[in-house]
Amino acid sequence: MISRILITGGAGFIGRHLASHLTDHELSVTVLDNESLGDRRHLDLDRVRFVAGDLRSPSDLRQALDGQDAVVHLAADTRVMDSIEDPTHNFDNNVVGTFNLLNACRELGVGRVVAASTGGAILGEVDPPVHEEMAPMPTSPYGASKLMLEGYLSAYASSYGLSSCALRFSNIYGPRSFHKGSVVAAFFKQVLAGERPTVYGDGSQTRDYLYVGDLVEAIRVAMLSDVTGPYQLGSGHGTTLNELLATMRTVTGLPIEVDYVDFRDGEVRDTWCQVDKARAGFGYDPSTPLEEGLRATWEWFRSQSPEETSASAGRGQESR
Ligand code: UDP
Repeated sequence: MISRILITGGAGFIGRHLASHLTDHELSVTVLDNESLGDRRHLDLDRVRFVAGDLRSPSDLRQALDGQDAVVHLAADTRVMDSIEDPTHNFDNNVVGTFNLLNACRELGVGRVVAASTGGAILGEVDPPVHEEMAPMPTSPYGASKLMLEGYLSAYASSYGLSSCALRFSNIYGPRSFHKGSVVAAFFKQVLAGERPTVYGDGSQTRDYLYVGDLVEAIRVAMLSDVTGPYQLGSGHGTTLNELLATMRTVTGLPIEVDYVDFRDGEVRDTWCQVDKARAGFGYDPSTPLEEGLRATWEWFRSQSPEETSASAGRGQESR
């Protein structure tokens, strides 16, 4: 039975939500985080054990992992552009870090790993809907690192019996997102600061926006199940940026005027995913409508002091 869980990278945006969700379900949670982007002060340290450390340090890993039943592996360098500029750094963090983690799981007898992966960066330029049967064709070192993660999960399952699945996150949004670059958080912060958001392109580009509350419930259920292999997690449909903005206007009650500029070079125009495999595999059910999720997110941003949101704007981004 799974009752003790380690979350790597658990002080980041998704990790914080997951840690409180799992403790709400009476599970015992340890977070391992090097605080490069996250911060332990955002965790409820009365309920969560925190280990400051890095996946590249065998002793940090052992300290965090000893006695755990399962791992949710979120720690990663997720910035595509950074990975293109410095592929070695991305490789060290994501590939070496993941390899060390899986090896330590094998040595310490941890039985189950659920790892954060990505559809977009692994698959490259493909026509949506994205699904698990598509052939991988990464176009960035970050995408390659996540494909290696999925490869090692598969290999360690076959070679050593380590049970695992890879959850391919779409665009995750929600309260407590200190995301600098991701569009929902960026636009809300700009609105609060009285600035005009910039839309890259004509706003017709589509993404698959998934509320963080739906994501952490999916992670919990997938972890407690015995599903294996990759699963796309999104809302299951595409939303244009103009539709997103219209819903933001409804939720905030503000006109939110924007400046339209050129599309950004190298950016995927349309991506959204099919979620049938997750529905069939572990009853995945992303039920939060966009308007409701955006309302909760806006309320959170509004409740923050200006110093806090502008300080967190510089913290970098944690992504899928
Ligand atoms: N975007 C935008 N203005 C911004 C930030 C993002 O128009 O200030 C657009 C971006 O070009 C993309 C979409 O919003 O089409 C989602 O961007 P995000 O960085 O959140 O996610 P990703 O492109 O990595 O899926």
